[in-house]
Amino acid sequence: MSRVDFIVQEATEDIIDRVTNVCLECYSDIKVGDTIHYDMLNYRYLCKSCQERLIEKKESIEDEEISEGLF
Ligand SMILES: [Zn+2]
Repeated sequence: MSRVDFIVQEATEDIIDRVTNVCLECYSDIKVGDTIHYDMLNYRYLCKSCQERLIEKKESIEDEEISEGLF
């Protein structure tokens, strides 16, 4: 399975108190009401910009794999 799965959530006090109060990629603060993305492959919360960056990285890796397969 190569697809990156994220669950988009709104940060709640519950998540911040019990799970994390920072993005686990860039360690920026997560505040109540922020849009956060739960990375189901790595079991961690990411901020929006890290999630977008991961998806771009993942897509470019997949592109390379596809072109290698063609030649
Ligand atoms: Zn981040």
